[in-house]
Amino acid sequence: MKAVYTERHRSHDPQFYLVRGVVKRTTEQPERADRLLKGLAAGKHTLVEPTVFGQGPRARIHSPEYLRFLADAWEEWTAIGDAGTEMIPNMHPVRQAATYPTHIVGKLGWHTVDTSAPIGPGTWDAACAATDVAATAAQLVMDGEDTAYALCRPPGHHAYRDQAGGFCFLNNSAIAAAHLRQKHERVAILDVDVHHGNGTQGIFYESPDVLTVSIHADPTRYYPFVWGYAHERGAGPGLGTNLNIPLPLGTKDDGYLQALGIAEKTIAAFAPTALVVALGLDASEHDPLAGLAVTTDGFRRIGAAIAKIGLPTVFVQEGGYLSDLLGTNLTAVLAGFEGAR
Ligand code: ZN
Repeated sequence: MKAVYTERHRSHDPQFYLVRGVVKRTTEQPERADRLLKGLAAGKHTLVEPTVFGQGPRARIHSPEYLRFLADAWEEWTAIGDAGTEMIPNMHPVRQAATYPTHIVGKLGWHTVDTSAPIGPGTWDAACAATDVAATAAQLVMDGEDTAYALCRPPGHHAYRDQAGGFCFLNNSAIAAAHLRQKHERVAILDVDVHHGNGTQGIFYESPDVLTVSIHADPTRYYPFVWGYAHERGAGPGLGTNLNIPLPLGTKDDGYLQALGIAEKTIAAFAPTALVVALGLDASEHDPLAGLAVTTDGFRRIGAAIAKIGLPTVFVQEGGYLSDLLGTNLTAVLAGFEGAR
């Protein structure tokens, strides 16, 4: 299948990652893309450069003030004079009425849900390139390809309409879905990342036209902790168009495939005409973020099960961190898909 990729992701190389009070090197590193590229090469997929769509696809999902904040963030940050080498928020104005701030430190807090999305000098450019990658894959499918894969970095599914978090800035999966909506009245997003796709859920929570389904590690014990529960089902006109399937930590292939069967039935009942797969590979038994325990053969089976949903499909890369099997698991899921198509 065609796989969309650009080197422009390399300008985003975050360092800071705060885990249970300990500062570590972030797991969302440029080398991830190198390992994923090896997986694409092993599967003999065809690399294509993204089309530059510009702000249009981003603006369908994200607010104007958020896009302006991200575009200007680094310049405003460095103008402070004594600021650090990455933008890390030190306040979050959540759950209380507040006023949109003018100071960059205030805006940084306003537009982030956590400390896991450090902004550096090349973040905006890389995040924009990733949205072009996602929109290009969606466009390929709209133009007649059965399937396309988008190697997006940074990932996107934790990003809300106007907030970054969890290594994510612009929601590539949501952008792909909104792009498909130009042609397809109803689109489903199936998120198989080990983490709940909270940003995607938030963006489409009241939308009756986009079904969001997420299979992920139990949020009572795993990030993002405050979203991802089964009772979150959508709201208003979108009530019933959000399905969360939290799984016990350590769930293996059979348990995962069982959950996928439930997801498939829900997608079939919604009757969409296109599918976006938010393809995290961090449910792997060897992923450093250790949530679920899917094997390489499990990823092949996941790919085959997704193929049987029978919809034009855009795969958008989400999480999946540095393990020896990262590329191998990408090869497996795409081979499983193609073998069952
Ligand atoms: Zn993840």
